[in-house]
Amino acid sequence: MDKPNLKNFTQQELTDWVVQLGMKSFRGKQIFCWLYRPDITDFSQMTDISKEVRSQLAEKSFFSNLQPEIEERSKDGSVKYAFRLEDGKVIESVLIPEEERLTLCVSSQVGCAMGCRFCLTGTMGFVRNLSPAEIVGQVQSISEIVKKQGYNRINNLVFMGMGEPLANFDNLITALSNLMNQNGLDFSSRRITVSTCGLIPKIKELGEKVPVNLAISLHAADNETRNKLMPVNATYPVDELLAACRAYPLPNRRKIMIEYIMLKDINDSPKDAKLLIKKLHKLAAKVNLLPYNENKVFDFKSPPRERVEQFQTILRDAGITALLRESRGSDISAACGQLATLNNGEEES
Ligand code: SF4
Repeated sequence: MDKPNLKNFTQQELTDWVVQLGMKSFRGKQIFCWLYRPDITDFSQMTDISKEVRSQLAEKSFFSNLQPEIEERSKDGSVKYAFRLEDGKVIESVLIPEEERLTLCVSSQVGCAMGCRFCLTGTMGFVRNLSPAEIVGQVQSISEIVKKQGYNRINNLVFMGMGEPLANFDNLITALSNLMNQNGLDFSSRRITVSTCGLIPKIKELGEKVPVNLAISLHAADNETRNKLMPVNATYPVDELLAACRAYPLPNRRKIMIEYIMLKDINDSPKDAKLLIKKLHKLAAKVNLLPYNENKVFDFKSPPRERVEQFQTILRDAGITALLRESRGSDISAACGQLATLNNGEEES
């Protein structure tokens, strides 16, 4: 039987596993704490654990760490990290410095099955799910890098990298548990945002399991337009999706983030803005307007600045918080919808 990777366990699962091996249950917490300390790569570094127990652990299990293979720095300060996984697949995470904060955009899958028409990751198709160790490994590795660079810590995690997080639900939940565990990486749920293209059956379950922030890639308020942009809309149309958002067990004073990529002559008219206002009625939501990152693969264009600002003003006049998000990292293909990695068995896209 394959040895388990201990970083794929929650603390409770790890405790159950050590007990099965005949160890005392306190060992579970002790080992779990070591796994998430900086620069721990070998059981021999777990110095308060006896040599016998360490060699038993090494015989029956292992744990993995990720190290970025490539680091690309954008003119705007964003940094894209590419990690090669054990099977040779490559995933990317993007670190975005903003004023006093550091936000890390995390991947949840290699490729993505959702096929959104504007997204480079979607062109890769689905390759595989990331394990909890691979999801948390991105955060742990980059956390250690930024600390060595003199930053205090990463402030926010957003699951907006490669993949649809809710399509890798069980591994996502384990990863979130370890990210939020004080003995793990100790992120507050307030600092974590999971973004989905709208897998309705999993939205409520997510909120019931972990009180993280929710972001919805909406991009159009009518089904006709959204169907053209996002194949998932055929299964989970706009009204049902927004009903699922209303049912999301949102912690007090938080809002659901509605992501809206602005595409010239497709979803950027005043009529589109007014329909969006109507659809967001009685939903605790704020809107992020993201002018499209033009690229050589798709024909979509970004609207002129005035058009974007007009859209924003219409939303604001209706009392909706609407933020205009400047594109970050587009010169290193790290911007939203631009993550599509090289060498996943294919030529670079
Ligand atoms: Fe997948 Fe998100 Fe890209 Fe859609 S936008 S194809 S859900 S990675």
